[in-house]
Amino acid sequence: MGYRIAVLKGDGIGPEIVEATLRVLNKISEIFNINFEFKEGYIGGIAIDKFGDPLPDQTLELCKNSDAILLGAVGGPKWDNLPTDRRPEKGLLKIRKELDLFANLRPAKVFDPLIKASPLRKDVVKGTDMIVVRELTSGIYYGEPRGIYKEGDKRVGINTMKYEEDEIRRVVRVAFEIARKRRKKLTSVDKSNVLEVSKLWRDVVEEERKNFPDVEVEHLYVDNCAMQIVRRPSTFDVIVTGNIFGDILSDEAGVVVGSLGMLPSASIGERYALYEPVHGSAPDIAGKGIANPLATILSASMMLKYSFGETEASETIERAVEYVLESGYRTPDIFEEGCIKVGTEDMTDKVIEGMEVIVSQK
Ligand code: NAD
Repeated sequence: MGYRIAVLKGDGIGPEIVEATLRVLNKISEIFNINFEFKEGYIGGIAIDKFGDPLPDQTLELCKNSDAILLGAVGGPKWDNLPTDRRPEKGLLKIRKELDLFANLRPAKVFDPLIKASPLRKDVVKGTDMIVVRELTSGIYYGEPRGIYKEGDKRVGINTMKYEEDEIRRVVRVAFEIARKRRKKLTSVDKSNVLEVSKLWRDVVEEERKNFPDVEVEHLYVDNCAMQIVRRPSTFDVIVTGNIFGDILSDEAGVVVGSLGMLPSASIGERYALYEPVHGSAPDIAGKGIANPLATILSASMMLKYSFGETEASETIERAVEYVLESGYRTPDIFEEGCIKVGTEDMTDKVIEGMEVIVSQK
């Protein structure tokens, strides 16, 4: 049995960090006897150059015929002046929509050796290990009516925050399932003191709670949650929330734990799932061999856990990353005095060596 993975390297540092991650997955294949079949497709600027489309049909087809998708990053100055609907980022929005990837998972975990990268005090951030589950395909970013109208001689801007109960239920269930496999605590975030749509959100969470009696549930208003994430980040386990609140809170949680080069993500739907780093294509360092591959490697670790249920393989990658950081290896973006500076390839070699060490200790 094997897993079919669509590999979309994209632009900028995308090819470098994805190549690095494929090497790690090949090592996983060797250690755990898991077969992967990698098939490459084009997305973003490179797809515009080759096919005139940031998400060509053949790429979408490839994704639909795969068990999971691994993506690097898209975009760069070369394509910045194209009209909005033909820009590389459009490929990303379209793939999420076409594959109905409704739950965006953003873990924010502090690695002890990188604790200084957090803007918060060490004693506040220590032990932080949370995951923000954001609804990704509905809510105010998609609601109708929307637009800017003329009312008399004034302009009026309007957007609509709308959730159908099933749209809430499916993402809440995903979050409960994840909490169940972690520390069994779910924080649902809304603004139900002001918004009816949030009142419905809270009702649905309460209904679903009955199906997950082993998970502790906390409700927070979004403004309070934004404060608590900086006051007591280590007390959160899983946070579930709608599209716009999740957009903001997941960035906040990310910055609390430190570097952009370390943050993985997953976007999952009923049938498909896409894994990618949170950062962009970093055109300023593309081709220099210094990009930090760890966010993409950790995204692959999420793929093993959430798409394939290969928990042991997934944890081996995570622990290898911790081991490498503890051993003092750093790419330039996370470098500090007293550490050993390495490039993308050497960092990847170290992760692979780390995996061997972790497995030999079992
Ligand atoms: P960015 O995340 O690409 O880079 C911000 C800064 O962080 C840069 O200095 C970059 O060098 C650094 N950085 C990011 N990832 C790094 C890594 N793995 N290792 C080392 N350093 C890293 O954001 P940006 O500069 O605002 O955007 C650049 C391009 O990426 C734009 O075209 C933007 O639209 C696109 N973008 C794409 C995605 C995506 O594909 N999901 C996300 C954000 C931005």
